[in-house]
Amino acid sequence: MSAGRAGEASRRPGRHRPLRGVYPDDDTVAPTGRDALRVLVVEDESDLALALAEGIRRDGYAVDVALTGRDAMEKMAVAPYDIVCLDLNLPDVDGLEVCRRLHAGHRQIDGTDQPRVLMLTARDSLEDRVAGLDDGADDYLVKPFALPELLARLRALARRRSRHTGAIIQVGEMRMDAARRTVYVGGRDLDLTTREFALLHYFMLNPGEVLSTERLLDHVWDENIDPFTNTVRVTVSKLRRKLEAVGLPHAIETIVGSGYRLVE
Ligand code: CA
Repeated sequence: MSAGRAGEASRRPGRHRPLRGVYPDDDTVAPTGRDALRVLVVEDESDLALALAEGIRRDGYAVDVALTGRDAMEKMAVAPYDIVCLDLNLPDVDGLEVCRRLHAGHRQIDGTDQPRVLMLTARDSLEDRVAGLDDGADDYLVKPFALPELLARLRALARRRSRHTGAIIQVGEMRMDAARRTVYVGGRDLDLTTREFALLHYFMLNPGEVLSTERLLDHVWDENIDPFTNTVRVTVSKLRRKLEAVGLPHAIETIVGSGYRLVE
């Protein structure tokens, strides 16, 4: 199921002028954990599924779609999703059952945590919400909901279990505001595409760590990417040029045979 990758270049994050002095120091946290970047949308109403996927993708996440519970479980078995937006009412395997099996059968894929689950439900009874949370959902949203609320819940889940308490990440001279989707280097605003932003976000969440091309593909790109493509190399190289333009020519190192590393 492809939600389409067309128009990537036109999907830029909303840009805001950097505002000086709006970040109190205690809002700045060291990037010690990892954030959620790859999302699986499980929803059998395909129009809704694609609309959600598109909205979430615009917010900078890599997004895949599953239209059935079975499809969702197959996808979760092979890809390390960070968050699963899981519709409760599915035609084959019920959302609660998917959630139960996810927690029962989770395999550690590349050493990352099991996905956080945001349950999407038309059922608004206390019983259903309790059942969802008991079966391992981390949060739930009752339909109908507005996209901005879903995105806010995703950001909250992304921060949970990592030591982030705010959306500001700082590594060296780079300061990223993940909620406002801005990056500043020495007071200068970096103009990044959605993918470049997502890539830098992942680097900044794992500073000093050597990140393989495979791991970057897993967390920054969705399943529609050809694993043999050179897109990682190309995106890293574009990002480097933009960092170089603001005075950081050596921010991202190539570790031959292993991957890339953001210098702390
Ligand atoms: Ca449904």
